[in-house]
Amino acid sequence: MTSPTARELIFAPVGIAHLTDSATDLVRAAARDAARVRVTTAAQLNGHPHVGTVVTVMCVFALARRFAHDLYLPAEVVFDALDNAPGQHLDIDGDHYVRTVADLIDHGDLDRADRVSGFTRLLDWTSRRCSIGYQIRPYHEYQQAPAVRECLYRIASRLEEFRPMVAPADGVVRIRPRCPQCWLVEKSAHHLTISTSHGAVHLDSRCPEHGAYRETIDIAGTSGWYDANTAVRSVQKGYLLAAERDQYQACPISIDGADWGGAWHAHVLAPALATLDIRPTRWPISLFTPLILDRSGGKLSKTLYVTYGREYADLPEALMNLDLLLEQYGEPALEALWSEVTRWAEDPQRLHRAYTADYLAALLPAAASNQRIA
Ligand SMILES: [Zn+2]
Repeated sequence: MTSPTARELIFAPVGIAHLTDSATDLVRAAARDAARVRVTTAAQLNGHPHVGTVVTVMCVFALARRFAHDLYLPAEVVFDALDNAPGQHLDIDGDHYVRTVADLIDHGDLDRADRVSGFTRLLDWTSRRCSIGYQIRPYHEYQQAPAVRECLYRIASRLEEFRPMVAPADGVVRIRPRCPQCWLVEKSAHHLTISTSHGAVHLDSRCPEHGAYRETIDIAGTSGWYDANTAVRSVQKGYLLAAERDQYQACPISIDGADWGGAWHAHVLAPALATLDIRPTRWPISLFTPLILDRSGGKLSKTLYVTYGREYADLPEALMNLDLLLEQYGEPALEALWSEVTRWAEDPQRLHRAYTADYLAALLPAAASNQRIA
């Protein structure tokens, strides 16, 4: 079986591709009075990026460059480095606890370079390749941003309204503190109580070893720390980007993988922004990069690959680890993927669809490849 090539693909103009000649068509109205384009994306710092993350980050930069060119505006990329991702999992007395990557790095249990270098290498290469600057925003900075804390307060003050949006399964809003002594975070949040007082959010929880504790988040300041789960963080990001419209005179654009579109956008983000009284004209523009699929049609998953290896996906290991990709194929691999991704940014029919990992593997430079891909 030969791998598919770009020439063999047939592009069906589905959904929004019917309405647009260029991705810029989805941004132009929101950028009318803006002085700059500010594109935000995010990734969990859970190790070395796989090829799906690589092309997602590249696509973010390629779109930023497209918008800068079409709108005659400067553009930059903000990369939210989610170092609040779990770096250690523990089950204690039937409850699930984690320690974050950031805490494990700070206390010497994880190597910072091992967690961060793959991403900085990718960001540096892509930024240089397209002359679009970027900044990294670690999670501890994100959770301190005034608009993010303001949003936190508004959600914590109206928990009953937000439960069906950010926790439709069990109603538990997961704004989690960590034990001040051993930094354990109760992931399931069964012992969590969220309350508010004037200008503060209080998170009461308990550590299996150190007992009950309270974390107080100062809304106007920077004291306190909390881990917002994916749903809460997504809503906060929408709120933050809406605020950045004035703060930076920016057209704020959020670009993430397509798994953040569809049902997520319809059931979590959109109703939450409406409940927070953000007018739709103030919402950040949400764009989605193509999903990269494994051979079963699921999203290519590093976690499943690490857990199940080839039982999950019989794919070359280089596709699952940027360092290995560069070791085996060199920088021409990045050049080949960049060349493909710039076409996605040019053509809505190429942007609004998914690609398989095999499709990307077939793009890699043949001369450097000594692996059979399919
Ligand atoms: Zn503790």
